[in-house]
Amino acid sequence: TDAVLDVRDLRVAFGPIEPVRGVSFSLRRGERLGLVGESGSGKSLTALAIMRLARRAQLSGQVLLEGEDLLTLKPRQMEKVRGGRVAMVYQDPMSALNPVQTVGHQLEEAIRLHSRLDRRGARERAIELLDGVGVPHPQRRVEQYPHEFSGGMRQRVMIAMAMCADPAVLICDEPTTALDVTTQARIMDLLDRLVEDHGTAVMLITHDLGVAAGFCDSIQVMYGGRIVERAEAEALYRAPVHPYSEALLGAAVDLSLELGVPIPTIGGQPPLAGRLPSGCSFHPRCPHAQDVCRTDSPALESAAGRPVACHFADARAQTLEESDVRV
Ligand code: SF4
Ligand code: MG
Repeated sequence: TDAVLDVRDLRVAFGPIEPVRGVSFSLRRGERLGLVGESGSGKSLTALAIMRLARRAQLSGQVLLEGEDLLTLKPRQMEKVRGGRVAMVYQDPMSALNPVQTVGHQLEEAIRLHSRLDRRGARERAIELLDGVGVPHPQRRVEQYPHEFSGGMRQRVMIAMAMCADPAVLICDEPTTALDVTTQARIMDLLDRLVEDHGTAVMLITHDLGVAAGFCDSIQVMYGGRIVERAEAEALYRAPVHPYSEALLGAAVDLSLELGVPIPTIGGQPPLAGRLPSGCSFHPRCPHAQDVCRTDSPALESAAGRPVACHFADARAQTLEESDVRV
């Protein structure tokens, strides 16, 4: 297999509560995969579990990175992998940067952890990296502290740090959510160019299907700790089969009409991990729910050439095909 990351039946539990309930997917070299859903769907926790940063959680399943199961590594071994072969960019770079150390110092530490460069070589590399992510005057900027950078520039610093060891897999968790629309677009362009140049596989976590569709090759939609649909980005955008994907897409369209006003337009609330509805966990919010949906949990099965977890996936795929005049 050419999968660089292969996640198999990943489960994350806190005692009896299981917010991630058997997630499986793989990522090829250079692939951009979106993981999309509302907050609380288990997306961020899936990422933290892959990085082995989900504190006090019980993990099961397999996280195969280039064939090696990260869940079996000793903490010391995992420290080498983290920020090395797998790196992560977070929504809020301020929480990941140390406010009392210069940006240059923090970059140098990251570089030296994953290379044999001495302090001087690491400093040169830090300047190169900042230059590579479009931070102007990198020579001067390395001497500055995180608070001296704008939100967008801080996120560029985080991306430079994440890319410092040329990771095989880069996980980006809502990398642009805290930024204004113009800066968002610039950061996505930067990521696009970087991963293109380096052949990095990316998992982009976002609640925004529009952002995912613009960047990703394929998208998987998560709800209630499970993947409910996976498809090529274009196919999902054109014809979402799962009712939740359809609702998310509707919400994304409404959002684009009211720029910058994040009003959730899907009726009802996402479920809490400890209080999942019976049967299909989307049933209380689903306009297509039938009796069977309240009792039986649908498996992720192929419908319209893609995996979908809905009892009526085949029928819905059929309807979509018939109504799609653009084909
Ligand atoms: Fe809706 Fe039923 Fe499909 Fe769940 S299984 S998404 S409730 S139609
Ligand atoms: Mg999150």
